[in-house]
Amino acid sequence: MLRIKDFSVPFDDETPLAQLAAQRLGVRAEEIVSVAIVRKAVDARRYHGAPLLFVYVLDVAVRQERAVLARLRRDRKVERRQPQLRPPILERPLGKGERRPVVVGFGPAGMFAALTLARAGQAPLVLERGQDVDTRHRDILSFWHGGAFSPTSNVQFGEGGAGTFSDGKLTTRISDPHMRDVLEAFVAAGAPQEILYLHKPHIGTDLLRTVVKNLREEIRRLGGEVRFGAQVTDVELAGGRLAALIVAGEERVAADAAFFGIGHSARDTYEMLYARGLAMEAKAFAVGVRIEHPQDFIDRAQYGADAGQPRLPVADYVLTYQDRETGRGAYSFCMCPGGQVVAAASEAGRLVTNGMSNYRRDSGVANAALLVQVTPEDFGPGVLAGVAFQRDYEARAFAAGGGDYFAPVQSVGDFLAGRAGSSDFLVPPSYAPGVRTARLADCLPPAVCATLAHALPQFDRRIPGFAAPDVPMTGIETRSSAPVRIRRDRQTFLAERTPGIYPIGEGAGYAGGIMSAAVDGMKAALAYLEV
Ligand code: FAD
Repeated sequence: MLRIKDFSVPFDDETPLAQLAAQRLGVRAEEIVSVAIVRKAVDARRYHGAPLLFVYVLDVAVRQERAVLARLRRDRKVERRQPQLRPPILERPLGKGERRPVVVGFGPAGMFAALTLARAGQAPLVLERGQDVDTRHRDILSFWHGGAFSPTSNVQFGEGGAGTFSDGKLTTRISDPHMRDVLEAFVAAGAPQEILYLHKPHIGTDLLRTVVKNLREEIRRLGGEVRFGAQVTDVELAGGRLAALIVAGEERVAADAAFFGIGHSARDTYEMLYARGLAMEAKAFAVGVRIEHPQDFIDRAQYGADAGQPRLPVADYVLTYQDRETGRGAYSFCMCPGGQVVAAASEAGRLVTNGMSNYRRDSGVANAALLVQVTPEDFGPGVLAGVAFQRDYEARAFAAGGGDYFAPVQSVGDFLAGRAGSSDFLVPPSYAPGVRTARLADCLPPAVCATLAHALPQFDRRIPGFAAPDVPMTGIETRSSAPVRIRRDRQTFLAERTPGIYPIGEGAGYAGGIMSAAVDGMKAALAYLEV
């Protein structure tokens, strides 16, 4: 098998890949046995007016491989494909009298810890405070259409975790061999095959609902048990080591090992774990707003005259700015092409935004968070001071929106001029249940407002029109990452000072996003199995 790297093809070239590969290798089309896409990215940089490019990595089986390779020995972009050595699935069935491990939280971290344990024969017990994904979907839709807010079943809590009602972007900054295992498990559970090779893979909320359901059923099929409406409210320690979990304040589940994949919004669980003596520390996170533009505006900015071509994916963007005056960085985050802004609160009387999209990303509206980092210096001493800081600003946003889960919205022009009231927006704000015009400065830290005010004109230079006066910004975004870290040992993944507890995923401060949380859960489970 040969690997062709960095293979650029004009995006509108419809020649079959096998034929293109044959031309690239200098052989006749009949010599090509098979072509597999390993990677596909869009290069929108346009060199000297040339068309946009798809850039591929291809694995090609070709007749007379040795001869082809010998002829192309000076071609550094063609090589023999190295066999991928992947560790075998670890099997370690439960021993007689051995207690099954428990997984707390069924987001990506908990899900992949449970799947790994189930595959090994450990029959894990999963305890998830929220509801199964179908019930959760109904609860969330009801809330978005003006129904009651549920503190137990919402965008943060329930089957699949925070990642379920998301864009389902699987991009990540980590590089880890287990990423492939996660992607393959997603595909086996119903995610599109293309996530295995796209440079910027995504699943979308509509497909994710089925994917998480299938992953749950796979864990059950392998002997695991998954319970919903099962919040772990306390832990019982004996001699400093985990002895049991308390579910819903009353049921005692004896446990020697528990993986806590609780996410960044389980504030009551943070408080409980801290009170029980787990080693925890405050950490920085980021705060800001969601900005929205027509998707075709972003497509034109990125693709120029080729915008709207069906062969091109809807466009995204990444913007960063370092503000010398405030000393803080501002950046776009969790950009959701063709999506919508969502109500993502997990506590009554508080307001939080986030973004999601469906697989087809066809809402016609692009949204992204614009965030500014805040650090323990902003929220003062105390391990849980960041949580108090989030709660304070989320309560202010709730009040600024009118106290009924409508979100405060302000145009860029009004924000920069320090006034409120314009409601003639470039694109109607998509947040449901609804928005009210307000001053975002009333519900954001002053340093965040100052940095955003400096960043917006800079972003407008990069994408002209990005910060046009009528562009809407909806507040506020506070759950970019965890406000604390639960300290753990690097090798064993065990909580410092509290053997038996494995803090995993984003809530523990070791991941940021679906992929890294899933990989973290998987690696913690493997560390447990390898002991
Ligand atoms: P979570 O997914 O937060 O899961 C934690 C789970 O634990 C929850 O289900 C919760 O109910 C449960 N739990 C908490 N406490 C307890 C307890 N005491 N007992 C029992 N259960 C408990 N990331 C991306 O990579 N791409 C995206 O496109 C993307 N979009 C997003 C869109 C939205 C709207 C949101 C909210 C987040 C998005 N994210 C995205 C971030 C991503 O969802 C998280 O990084 C990821 O889900 C973290 O995984 P986790 O398993 O660590 O925690």
